[in-house]
Amino acid sequence: MAASENAASTEGEASLDVASAALRALGLRPVINAAGTLTRLGGSLMAPGVVEAMAEGSRHFVDLPALQRAVGERIARLTNNEAAYVSSGAAAGIVVSVAACLAGTDPGRIANFPSLRGFDKTEVIIQRAQRNGYDYAIRQTGATLVEIEGAAGSLEAAITDRTGAIVVFAGTRLMTGALPIATVIEIAHRHHVPVIVDAAAQIPPISNLWHFTRDLGADIAIFSGGKGLRGPQSTGLVLGRADLIEGCIANGSPSASVGRPLKVGKEELLGILAAVEWSLAQDEATTISRYETIVAGWLSGLRGLPGVTAERAFPSEAGQPHAWLLVQLRDDAAMDRDALVAALWDRDPRIAVWELGESGFALNPQTLGDGEDAVVLDAVRSLLST
Ligand SMILES: *Cc1c(COP(=O)(O)O)cnc(C)c1O
Repeated sequence: MAASENAASTEGEASLDVASAALRALGLRPVINAAGTLTRLGGSLMAPGVVEAMAEGSRHFVDLPALQRAVGERIARLTNNEAAYVSSGAAAGIVVSVAACLAGTDPGRIANFPSLRGFDKTEVIIQRAQRNGYDYAIRQTGATLVEIEGAAGSLEAAITDRTGAIVVFAGTRLMTGALPIATVIEIAHRHHVPVIVDAAAQIPPISNLWHFTRDLGADIAIFSGGKGLRGPQSTGLVLGRADLIEGCIANGSPSASVGRPLKVGKEELLGILAAVEWSLAQDEATTISRYETIVAGWLSGLRGLPGVTAERAFPSEAGQPHAWLLVQLRDDAAMDRDALVAALWDRDPRIAVWELGESGFALNPQTLGDGEDAVVLDAVRSLLST
């Protein structure tokens, strides 16, 4: 169904109203999200069918480890991967997959985190250009980060008997100054070191669910369940090598280990499965061309305003293959960027945009509900026209 559904559409007006009534009862305004799949704004809105699957899960006790395995096997089959594990988010997926690379399924080691006393593998390699807030998840296991330059020689020199994994962050913003993923994998595999690709926000395209693992040969690829897949916010997918997925299961909840606080409930397990099924059934080309139409409408609506330069840009924020709109404000604009962002956020509903540099911002179609692109355009136009 619903190739026209996008990252914000829900089952209908009624459920939107109920949700916003609950927010208003708490003194909060709903947000129109023209920024992107940011966790601090709620990530994405769940796809049709996801909340029903979660509700179904909420009504029955179940053998949770068996459910975890069954959902993992189904998701692996759907995504052309050897095996799959559902984590409580992409960051949690980094924790359990690094733990799997360091401890495997060894009970003594699993119980020992974050102390790596007695471990053979204690180090994880990362490229300096890719350092970012999510690499905390690597260090959470107790692993020592070994930072290298984005050069083949630097990677070769850093690999030792203590290297447990190499973590690579996919996406255009983090790839600047970093080795191509295929090069990292080629070098790592020559030394029998597994490569974990954090591809949290790399959907669309949906084919990335198998691209990094099956096409490029990464040992593990990790995705947020609550970004482009539009599953429950507190889910993520860890996809790839069966032995490492066994390690994720052994290190994850309900085992008493570093993964125990990263619990995934039966509701989330059924919810992310429904979201993967829904996402695979969408016509991606139609969705992407709808984004193109929205961006073209914004572009013509903002063109010619004093002090405003607007241009279509591609790819989007994290390298997703669709258009978004970049806007620069000069000194002769009606207000500066910070004032504009504050004024948009102060509306009801609030409007969130993506800030760029000192004087720019971007409008992202990925997280907008039907008709919200016009609300955003009207608001930006009226503030920049005065
Ligand atoms: C969003 C993001 C994460 C975290 O994902 P969660 O599902 O919120 O845990 C990790 N890595 C990257 C590169 C991301 O963009």
